[in-house]
Amino acid sequence: MSQTEQAVREDGVIRSVSGPVVTARGLDARMNDVVYVGDEGLMGEVIEIEDNVTTVQVYEETSGIGPDEPVRNTGEPLSVDLGPGLLDTIYDGVQRPLDILEDKMGSPYLDRGVDAPGIELNKKWEFEPTVTEGDVVESGDEVGVVEETVTIDHKVLVPPNYEGGEVTAVNSGEFTVEETVVELSSDESVQMRQEWPVREPRPAVEKKTPREPLISGQRILDGLFPIAKGGTAAIPGPFGSGKTVTQHQLAKYADADIIIYVGCGERGNEMTEVIDDFPELEDPSTGNPLMARTSLIANTSNMPVAARESCVYTGITIAEFYRDMGYDVALMADSTSRWAEAMREISSRLEEMPGEEGYPAYLAARLAQFYERAGYFENVNGTEGSVSAIGAVSPPGGDFSEPVTQNTLRIVKTFWALDADLAERRHFPSINWDESYSLYKEQLDPWFQENVEDDWPEERQWAVDVLDEESELQEIVQLVGKDALPDDQQLTLEVARYLRESYLQQNAFHPVDTYCSPEKTYLTVTAIHRFNDEAFEALDAGVPVDEIVNIDATPRLNRIGVQEDYEEYIATLKEDIATQLQELY
Ligand code: ADP
Repeated sequence: MSQTEQAVREDGVIRSVSGPVVTARGLDARMNDVVYVGDEGLMGEVIEIEDNVTTVQVYEETSGIGPDEPVRNTGEPLSVDLGPGLLDTIYDGVQRPLDILEDKMGSPYLDRGVDAPGIELNKKWEFEPTVTEGDVVESGDEVGVVEETVTIDHKVLVPPNYEGGEVTAVNSGEFTVEETVVELSSDESVQMRQEWPVREPRPAVEKKTPREPLISGQRILDGLFPIAKGGTAAIPGPFGSGKTVTQHQLAKYADADIIIYVGCGERGNEMTEVIDDFPELEDPSTGNPLMARTSLIANTSNMPVAARESCVYTGITIAEFYRDMGYDVALMADSTSRWAEAMREISSRLEEMPGEEGYPAYLAARLAQFYERAGYFENVNGTEGSVSAIGAVSPPGGDFSEPVTQNTLRIVKTFWALDADLAERRHFPSINWDESYSLYKEQLDPWFQENVEDDWPEERQWAVDVLDEESELQEIVQLVGKDALPDDQQLTLEVARYLRESYLQQNAFHPVDTYCSPEKTYLTVTAIHRFNDEAFEALDAGVPVDEIVNIDATPRLNRIGVQEDYEEYIATLKEDIATQLQELY
């Protein structure tokens, strides 16, 4: 955050302290101004102004501060520092880099009132200009490039609120983020660093209908419930159902250029796990460290609830910044329930009228504002970029009827419902195929048809139909047992079992199975489909169902996932299935 250097305008004093909520007297402030509270200067944000009393939510632990201590107003909204250096960094909820704080304090547990700029101010970056003197640039236009990490070229853009004009001077070479790299006839100078208020979406020309999938490498997601680049998705699930593993798989394999991982966990160790794990991970497409395209925002354990809100906004603003450069960004928020609980706590301290289950009436609006910042955009500079937003939801007891899940459902277009029963049966990813959905399916079909195979939609529909039929048959089986079913229905159950075991299940911890390309996803379905067709022909020819299901080849269906040379494996397997079944009649 960048308020440190701002001149402090007005002083007030603390009137009362209630957890993360502090009221102040005599403070001349506007809504959402950033203030420093108490002798220690804890960072907070104005959330209510009434007569002479200003209410502030404080982003740091407030114990030990009390009435009559000073409250200083910066007169600036909560903003993030944007520029090279955002990637490969782990931040806390108010964009303080954890490693720098650790150095300052000698421990990973943050002290209060410690401040640090969001991006390193002393580091020199090699700036390569892409404009020359005499060029005319407008706000949003690219003026140069910096190699931010081994994976990502950082485009230096004219800030959105600039007037723009003719380039009067260009500096190439090594600069810090605060030094001027390009000067304009408008008397404006461009530096690599810019600030942006977190609650304000960065401008764009237009939000377009997304037409490209964000490939996740997870069969059930790409195959049945795809999310678009620029799309929104929710992953609700009870504890232990696989939310974190799914989010990690997405962070690792999603074909986005940039990953922003926002962790607003409640328990400290949830976040510690992410902080320890991520720097170890490798980007499978480049072999570079995954962190080279990732920015992590972690609400650490000693940050109070209010900071969960700033985490989410900081994350989406950083995402928009890279979108403006023309990148596809995927933002993962884990978990939005913790953010909603923070809203509930603050709201109750403000004695606002509670809505459903004590959540404030504006819960739905806040969630919507967040997800609305996702999308596939035409940027101000004419490039296209996207922000995909994927939020985990942790409903207490796994009950999806609670307000956070329900309000999220109304907004997002992809719903990946994790299921405790499936997790218990070790069916992973435990995404319930009856409850999950994607509203992007049809609009993404042309992409899959063009890039994978023409009959992608038909194959998917075939799989969905078989799984639906299985659900209905299972109800009968529960009543009368499998043997009471007619042969054709017994065979359908067998086909469905292969769909579940070799198509829907995927082992995140197997080196090959962990990622499945859309081609492999498609071929997996066609292999099972082939078994289905050949099996029903055999049945029609009078072969008993026991013989059909007992051929040698079919168990090999379940090993498709772990095959590296899957094309040959699947082709041979299809042949063998056909031959063995045809030999029976
Ligand atoms: P949550 O975040 O919902 O509490 P986790 O993501 O930690 O749950 O998952 C719990 C456990 O389930 C993991 O430790 C792992 O053993 C198993 N698991 C989840 N997803 C998968 C997967 N795709 N493949 C294999 N195992 C999985």
